[in-house]
Amino acid sequence: MSAPVNFTPVSGFDLPRFAGIPTFMRLPHVSIDDPAINSVDIGLIGTPWDSGTTNRSGARHGPRALRDLSTMIRAEHGANGTRPFEQANCADLGDVSPNPVDIQDGLKRMTDFYERVMAAGIRPLTAGGDHLCSLPILRALAASSPLAMIHFDSHTDLFDSYFDGNRYTHGTPFRRAVEEGLLDPKRVVQIGIRGTNYGREDRDFAESVGIRIIPIEEFFKRGVEDVMVEAREIVGDTSTYISYDIDFVDPTFAPGTGTPEVGGPNSFQALQVVRELKGVSIAGADLVEVSPPFDTNGATAWLGASLMFELLCVMV
Ligand code: MN
Ligand code: MN
Repeated sequence: MSAPVNFTPVSGFDLPRFAGIPTFMRLPHVSIDDPAINSVDIGLIGTPWDSGTTNRSGARHGPRALRDLSTMIRAEHGANGTRPFEQANCADLGDVSPNPVDIQDGLKRMTDFYERVMAAGIRPLTAGGDHLCSLPILRALAASSPLAMIHFDSHTDLFDSYFDGNRYTHGTPFRRAVEEGLLDPKRVVQIGIRGTNYGREDRDFAESVGIRIIPIEEFFKRGVEDVMVEAREIVGDTSTYISYDIDFVDPTFAPGTGTPEVGGPNSFQALQVVRELKGVSIAGADLVEVSPPFDTNGATAWLGASLMFELLCVMV
């Protein structure tokens, strides 16, 4: 037997937000081994792992920075009044214990953890980690049937391999996820794609399997609301994974990431796209690629924590 958990986050009226142990959004920490895990509805989980990073690393430090800045979050959404912590039992489930020196073992540790999360009937909201973390999560979440996905990123992450056949990097997770039958490619939309290219390989693959790519030029021409109407139509009422790479946002607002691309959405548009997910059947979500070593003033982690709160508000 374990004591009943109080799922109300600590308020800044009761304890200053710079004090106390910084769990995600000042929620209770419930271990996956605690019998109380069965009363959790939404689990906030850290995946401090960046062994899939092909360029500038550091996203392994993301969960700790996101937890710290997430203590700034209050209980009520500023624009629509959603009070997520009253609508669902939310808890910090801690970090998946990573293996920074063995990619396959790292992937397995994450899938094993998320299988237990699924078994407890919990929907996960993950703080990465690099974008390869999405693959082991999808392996657990899509075990019974393929998911739809709405993916915010400046990159497609649909490449086949790097460095002579290495197929597991943060540039390849969704290629693997489609191959493994974890995603229904006709119900996948990638929004915000931009930057210089290696070539057409990733886009040719997307076209061949029916993934819809909305480049940043089209995003700005049509506007957030119109683009998100199409995104909601693409996923329909299929159970949907939301994957949010912080490099979707312009590096002015989110410089702390390994592979920034200029010419992106501002921080308000970054929040808006998540608000437009209302009504989507969300199986789980992640916010990845925050890299604190490049985040000199903490602005990226603050935006990332704010995006996690937005994601939580559309999940409840
Ligand atoms: Mn990515
Ligand atoms: Mn990216």
